[in-house]
Amino acid sequence: MGLISDALSRVQPSATVGISQLARQMAQAGKDIIALSAGEPDFDTPQHVRKAAIDAIERGETRYTNVEGITELKEAVAAKFGRDNGLDVAAEDCFVSAGGKQIIFNALMATLNPGDEVVVPVPYWVSYPEIVRLAGAEPVFAQASQETGFKLTPQALEAAISDKTKWLILNTPSNPSGAAYTEAELAGLAAVLMKYPHVHILTDDIYEVLVYDGRRFATIAQVEPKLMARTLTMNGVSKSHAMTGWRIGYCTGPREILKAMLKLQSQSTTNPPSISQWAAVEALNGPQGFLADWRATFQKRRDYVVGRLNTFAGLDCLTPEGAFYVFPSCKGLIGKTSAGGRVLATDEDVVMALLEENGVALVHGSAFGLAGHFRISYAASDSQLADAMDRIEAFCSGVQ
Ligand code: PLP
Repeated sequence: MGLISDALSRVQPSATVGISQLARQMAQAGKDIIALSAGEPDFDTPQHVRKAAIDAIERGETRYTNVEGITELKEAVAAKFGRDNGLDVAAEDCFVSAGGKQIIFNALMATLNPGDEVVVPVPYWVSYPEIVRLAGAEPVFAQASQETGFKLTPQALEAAISDKTKWLILNTPSNPSGAAYTEAELAGLAAVLMKYPHVHILTDDIYEVLVYDGRRFATIAQVEPKLMARTLTMNGVSKSHAMTGWRIGYCTGPREILKAMLKLQSQSTTNPPSISQWAAVEALNGPQGFLADWRATFQKRRDYVVGRLNTFAGLDCLTPEGAFYVFPSCKGLIGKTSAGGRVLATDEDVVMALLEENGVALVHGSAFGLAGHFRISYAASDSQLADAMDRIEAFCSGVQ
């Protein structure tokens, strides 16, 4: 009898966390490393949100709360879904967890059985297939590529659906590609989903506020209200308010699912952190003016990074609509040799050579299900990005 559970043997450790850790270790050992591998905004949590947390501590809001979140936060979440997404929901239709990741974890663990299938569009956020596998179900990968703007097409969706499909996971804007679906594109997917009433939709909208060039964010339950009864719309304050460490994610969805999630959460973390919940109330109800500045900053960085990458030998990069990632193709480098003598047989070789030879930490595309690419997070300062681009340029020009 082994010590570690069989369930865990089905799961891979997070590649993004792994590369970031390796980069940290190299930096600690004295190497000059620029890490563009992590997925968090480099801004500070806004002052008014930090103050709300301090006030909550001073008021003694330091005890257990409702499992599914304090009423004030559920009301703020319901108001946010109404205001920003046109979803008419009550506070009882809302649920809060310790991060968006715990919402996804709860929803999948609470609903999946062995034999169930979950359609996961490629490229995907690393945790989706692993949580599906942990729950004993099967991820079914629906292929997207640079040619489709990294977006799932209605045809690819329909081909992936079977009698066993319980969920489709959508993520817009996307980690790792930055692709954001338009209303029309979501309507195309919704038309397919209307034909398959047994399929539920989990939409991960955590990068909602980060869309550029004046685009309007759209979410599927808003585009096709008939899907509302089988859609779990997930969001959180990690990326929208630079609150990754506070651990607050939230959702709205069918009450039957929320009730099951409550049962699971009550036997795991009990409730999301009380102080963070009060901070999130302020994040959602308070002023949002700072977001325009953040968007402008990210858009400028995106344009700089994409502009530079497309001049480097062997790379080809689309301009993504949102989030803070770019996902260039490095297929032009594959099969060649780096200046340091490493054979670049895969995207992982490219990423490891870049880290070891030029000190830039990125994440290989195959970790997100799409080989031949890598992900760069541009949530970094202008000078770090300029330095990183110089290093990637030097790396690419040294490849033979
Ligand atoms: N969903 C996506 C697509 C993400 O990129 C992340 C974080 O990187 C999360 C969910 C998790 O967010 P949270 O920090 O709220 O758990």
